[in-house]
Amino acid sequence: MRMELSNKVALVTGASRGIGAAIAIRLAKEGASVAVNYRQDAEGAMRVVGLIQSQGGEALAIQADVRDASQVNEMFSKVVAQWGKVDILINNAGILKESFVMLMSEAEWNEVVDTSLKGAFLCTKAALRSMTKNRWGRIINISSDAGLMGDVMRAHYCAAKAGLIGFTKAVAREVARSGITVNAVAPGVVETDMIASLSETKKKAMLELIPMQRFARPEEVAHLVVFLCTELAGYITGQVFVIDGGLNM
Ligand code: NAP
Repeated sequence: MRMELSNKVALVTGASRGIGAAIAIRLAKEGASVAVNYRQDAEGAMRVVGLIQSQGGEALAIQADVRDASQVNEMFSKVVAQWGKVDILINNAGILKESFVMLMSEAEWNEVVDTSLKGAFLCTKAALRSMTKNRWGRIINISSDAGLMGDVMRAHYCAAKAGLIGFTKAVAREVARSGITVNAVAPGVVETDMIASLSETKKKAMLELIPMQRFARPEEVAHLVVFLCTELAGYITGQVFVIDGGLNM
């Protein structure tokens, strides 16, 4: 297989499991050195790092809460100290909570919005220092069908994921002349821990709406994300790529 990302350095937020882990593993397969960020699940992050290393790749687990600017900056300093630069940033960290908007606490709103949206802002700001210097970069923001379609009991999540799309387009315009592309990927329902926690009734209802009648595998999202990180995707920026088995068309 051709190594499309040899000599590139990537940081994937929330890569201890699920979609982030699949993206980190796939980026490493293409030759990138990968920083595997996590918040709590050190064991999961070490598992991902071990897997990458067992396949001959380079990886480093880094704990940081993406909602915290000083932790984010320290994380990027560690990546630059290890590999000298950051070429690829995948803003993947996210959490899902459910409550009706009338009952939603301010704390819950902040937790969900800050993880997806503020986290992406803080990481992008830190990554751009290296990317603009090298005049090459790829930023992929993991949004969601929820940000395009809306969903009950998820006003915070939908607002954050829709916000990421506006953020993607704004930053794409700002950095287009610096050799940096910025895109969003919006998955439908993907088989991860995030979905495992939902009730069987809710999962069945979601499945009925999907023309392909199945949920995505994390690896399917990873293929798309990794393509957007390669030279082949060099003329694509400011776009939203939906991957959802036909749910939103
Ligand atoms: P997941 O299995 O629940 O994993 C979430 C990851 O985010 C974990 O690695 C977690 O780290 C990390 N994380 C959470 N809060 C963090 C923080 N404050 N700082 C750093 N890392 C943090 O989720 P997933 O299903 O893979 O989802 C990944 C992304 O795809 C999310 O943005 C999600 O909204 C989006 N998405 C998912 C689906 C789906 O159906 N699964 C659909 C559309 C979009 P720890 O384990 O250390 O806590």
